[in-house]
Amino acid sequence: MKEFFKGVRKHIGKMDAERLREQFGHVADALERSETLFSALKEGLVRIDQDGQVVQSNPAARELLGLAPEEMLPTLGLPLGKSSKREITVTYPEKRSLEIQTIPFEDETIVYVRDITAEKARTEEELRAGASRAVMDLAAGVAHEIGNPLNALSLNLQLLQRSYKDDPSIAECLAQVARLDGIIRGFLQALRPQKPNLRPGSVADPLKSCLATLKHQFEERRITVTLDIPSALPAVALDPDQMEQVYFNLLKNALEAMKDGGRIEIAIGSDDDDVTVAFCDNGAGMNSEQLAHLFEPYRTTKAKGTGLGLMVTDRIVRAHGGTIAAESSPGEGTTFTVRIPRLERRIRTLK
Ligand code: ADP
Ligand code: MG
Repeated sequence: MKEFFKGVRKHIGKMDAERLREQFGHVADALERSETLFSALKEGLVRIDQDGQVVQSNPAARELLGLAPEEMLPTLGLPLGKSSKREITVTYPEKRSLEIQTIPFEDETIVYVRDITAEKARTEEELRAGASRAVMDLAAGVAHEIGNPLNALSLNLQLLQRSYKDDPSIAECLAQVARLDGIIRGFLQALRPQKPNLRPGSVADPLKSCLATLKHQFEERRITVTLDIPSALPAVALDPDQMEQVYFNLLKNALEAMKDGGRIEIAIGSDDDDVTVAFCDNGAGMNSEQLAHLFEPYRTTKAKGTGLGLMVTDRIVRAHGGTIAAESSPGEGTTFTVRIPRLERRIRTLK
């Protein structure tokens, strides 16, 4: 099509009326075809200009979002001119999971909306039934085997500590054993989907204990972590152990995506509906293709990765009634934002 326009532009001065009519006909046909295709797609497509105004949208976008994209999209705070991916749940006209991707295109942003309700249910189903069974059994076996010697180590170290009270290496060994124990328990807990034990609390508490667990690793790699907690933080209903697992997975990924001396900014905030925890790193980032498959199991770019971390993270956040979104630019870094509904809102919806 580009070549065609180039040709027409070049020769337009020399064309007579008949020739012009003919070329115009070609253009009109092509436009109509792409318009038909645009309308026939079952995925939603919306074009947004630099000022955030909707330029064009297809019927599927309106249908999937349940509202006019002009009304619905601004409430999502999508990043303009950046690649991003998130999943949202809409309740109108029926409860559905939607995947929303933004793709920068020239000076516009294309928003791509896909219904993933069935896919999501299927993935969960397959995971429960299929390949992960083997992984889970293996993990359970290994964790069990490691658990016993760890216990013995810990006991003997405690005995030693009685005789050598001030020896810092014994204290360090004990701390490391406790950490190993924590990792194994976390691993098992993450692989066996467990209903969260929800109780009122703050999103900041499990975050602090997770940061304490990872402190050595951050120091070793000279990674600066900043944490911004507002003074008045609304309560949420959460399972502290499971949320710690969420933070651990996200921070570990950030750590693995960064060179030594990198920076992670963690910001906690809230709006009328949710409490948000955003993890912003200046690591390797991801391209649109990687973002498109994020949260899918067994997708990893690491030699020793499992590709299970984000899937588990997503599952835990969902079980809390929340959502998780990622925003990324290759070479610049990545931001993951976890949203957990405020306690009052949860109570309101339960009523
Ligand atoms: P794993 O860490 O075992 O690879 P995950 O599910 O935790 O599995 O992550 C899946 C993939 O997503 C990673 O392999 C990586 O390519 C990408 N990823 C996740 N978090 C980040 C991040 N903060 N920065 C860059 N890439 C990331
Ligand atoms: Mg990971």
